[in-house]
Amino acid sequence: MSSNSIYDVIVIGGGPAGMMAAGTAAKHGKRVLLVEKNKVFGKKLSITGGGRCNILNYEPNTRQLLPYYGESEQFLYSTFSQFAVEKTWDFFHGLDLSLVVEARRRTFPVSQKAADVVNTLVKFCKDSGVDMMPDTSVEGFVSNDNEISAVKTSRGNFASKWFILATGGSSHPETGSTGEGLRWLKSLGHTVKQANPNIVPLVAKDDWVKALSGTKLEPVKIIFLGKKTKLIKKGGILFTHFGLSGPTILNSAKEVKELLKDGEVSTAIDCFPDKEIGELRQDILDIFTANKNKDVKNILKTVVPPGMSKTIYGFLPLEMQIKKVHSTTQKERYLLADLLKNLPLTITGTKGLDWAVVSDGGVPLTEVDTRTMRSKVVKNLSLVGDTLHISRPSGGYSLQLCWTTGFVAGNNA
Ligand SMILES: Cc1cc2nc3c(=O)[nH]c(=O)nc-3n(C[C@H](O)[C@H](O)[C@H](O)COP(=O)(O)OP(=O)(O)OC[C@H]3O[C@@H](n4cnc5c(N)ncnc54)[C@H](O)[C@@H]3O)c2cc1C
Repeated sequence: MSSNSIYDVIVIGGGPAGMMAAGTAAKHGKRVLLVEKNKVFGKKLSITGGGRCNILNYEPNTRQLLPYYGESEQFLYSTFSQFAVEKTWDFFHGLDLSLVVEARRRTFPVSQKAADVVNTLVKFCKDSGVDMMPDTSVEGFVSNDNEISAVKTSRGNFASKWFILATGGSSHPETGSTGEGLRWLKSLGHTVKQANPNIVPLVAKDDWVKALSGTKLEPVKIIFLGKKTKLIKKGGILFTHFGLSGPTILNSAKEVKELLKDGEVSTAIDCFPDKEIGELRQDILDIFTANKNKDVKNILKTVVPPGMSKTIYGFLPLEMQIKKVHSTTQKERYLLADLLKNLPLTITGTKGLDWAVVSDGGVPLTEVDTRTMRSKVVKNLSLVGDTLHISRPSGGYSLQLCWTTGFVAGNNA
């Protein structure tokens, strides 16, 4: 490729938003260059959804979907009126990637492989005629009077009439999103909101958590007790070697961070949220009565959620640990029920930006024409995906933003 070539569009960053934008622009007959610093495209995309890729959240009614984007809702109607959930579904099916809707409308490729999503997008770009340039780092822009004329790259300068910035945010920097795109935007005159790792696992002080690493509990009720307020959430949690993760934790992290401003947060897990304490006490009594001659140690498996018996055993008073079931007292059985309704731990912090599933942060939508995704500050630049400051929960909402903003930007470049 000659460094003097003039493209119609250069897309910087070969993640989901960049590939969607590049392929869409090329489909419209534009001469498009896609520059990616990694040797492969879609490195972060390939680890999404635990390697399964929660590609979208199947809510075809845009009015129902957009409130999930918080304060950004009002700006996104014109964007989503062009390309929302159903068009995304059709888009991937049209590229022979079948999708399946699972619990809570989370949608995955039928193959359950994020790599298939990456390959589908790479093929979409190639088939649409995009010049794909991996292993090439963009180092900055040549610009004058709020207009960009070329990108400076590790392979020389490339000129273009239009540019689409798809360099992502700053979370999981090992995937390539190291935040330089946001620094360029600032120097070009955009406001860049500080990344705030909002969807992020929580760190616990308690050692017992480590032994449960990999154990999932669903549903639980989890109560975070701040100094002034209490937060109650219900759903699935995952124990990790450092604390807690899983959908309910990730989606609560923003509010827990507020509580953490006043210090450590006392937390209680209700392992049986759908049972009143009296009902649980009765269940325990029934199980104990039916297994009178067993050791307490051996009966716990029948009482507590799968994977939790060793941990709960560790919480019991020593004299109860060594008893036969028939010699336990009512007080001890009540204590076991209380424990299962109020398993205590202490949250000390979050895992921070490096572990964030999405970080908001980036350019506020007030500085973008959301009908086209064109910058209102730089004359020939569009912004897509995680470069934009939009907070959202986990569950496919982030990738939907990539498909929608990528499509609209590619269509309007
Ligand atoms: C662990 C994890 C799991 C997730 N799971 C889900 C999920 O299941 N569903 C969901 O909706 N969202 C999920 N997300 C969020 C989702 O992955 C992101 O919102 C999405 O990848 C953002 O896409 P993007 O194209 O804007 O940026 P990125 O995917 O970050 O892509 C940006 C690309 O730009 C390249 N780049 C950066 N700087 C330069 C440069 N100077 N020169 C050249 N190239 C550059 C990077 O190498 C990178 O490939 C997850 C995130 C993480 C971290």
